[in-house]
Amino acid sequence: MNLILLGPPGAGKGTQAKILAKKFDIPQISTGDILRGAVKEQSPMGIKAKGYMDSGSLVPDEVVVGIVKERLTKPDCSKGFILDGFPRTVIQADALKLTLGDMGKAIEHVISIVVDKEELLARITGRRTCRSCGKGYHLSFDPPKKVGVCDECGGELFQRDDDSEATMRNRLDVYEKQTAPLIDYYGHDSLLRTIIGTGSIDEIKQNILTGIKDGTV
Ligand code: ADP
Ligand code: ADP
Ligand code: ZN
Repeated sequence: MNLILLGPPGAGKGTQAKILAKKFDIPQISTGDILRGAVKEQSPMGIKAKGYMDSGSLVPDEVVVGIVKERLTKPDCSKGFILDGFPRTVIQADALKLTLGDMGKAIEHVISIVVDKEELLARITGRRTCRSCGKGYHLSFDPPKKVGVCDECGGELFQRDDDSEATMRNRLDVYEKQTAPLIDYYGHDSLLRTIIGTGSIDEIKQNILTGIKDGTV
């Protein structure tokens, strides 16, 4: 089960990737999470990536392609993987195809999650994440039981630096210009399954599972 979750910031890729990863017992590979980890550690890659991330631009293709190539060779990817937030450009998609081809693998489904802009803005501004376990919440749509505290592990919830109103608009523009062309790219390969990303988290999960099973949505 080799999946890509494609969609604008706030579409619910991370939320759904975590659910599917648990269900299928395969890893969620989030380039955003990996990059945020590198920024936190202040590794050379993190130092380089920070400026791009803070302004809502894409980190250079060669950096993220390098991250994903290395991650895909780990043994936990043998049964499959869920790419969350990668690829984000045609160059990244081409590099992924080549890398997987060399490994005798291929992408099986690309789930494109569609959510309108107003809803995306509301989701991103209310997004909160657990500092310890990474679980995602929303202040209004999916709040924790206790304000500021993770239900799962008691960790502290924080707001991402790039989830500000100003940066968010740039991220949505970047998505339209650089990432949305992948919808046609994977449409041509007949890998694309389009899912309406509004409704309950559980309904969306069900629609994704149906799309994966039928091969059409
Ligand atoms: P979101 O969940 O809102 O879509 P991510 O956590 O996936 O955001 O990404 C956060 C930031 O990390 C992006 O704005 C970008 O700067 C960088 N990033 C993540 N994935 C990629 C990628 N595949 N290519 C380039 N930059 C990326
Ligand atoms: P992405 O990874 O695509 O940027 P996330 O999974 O982080 O998106 O979701 C963005 C925000 O929207 C989070 O605060 C999350 O709790 C919330 N969210 C996710 N799915 C839904 C949904 N179906 N309805 C309402 N809010 C949602
Ligand atoms: Zn937690």
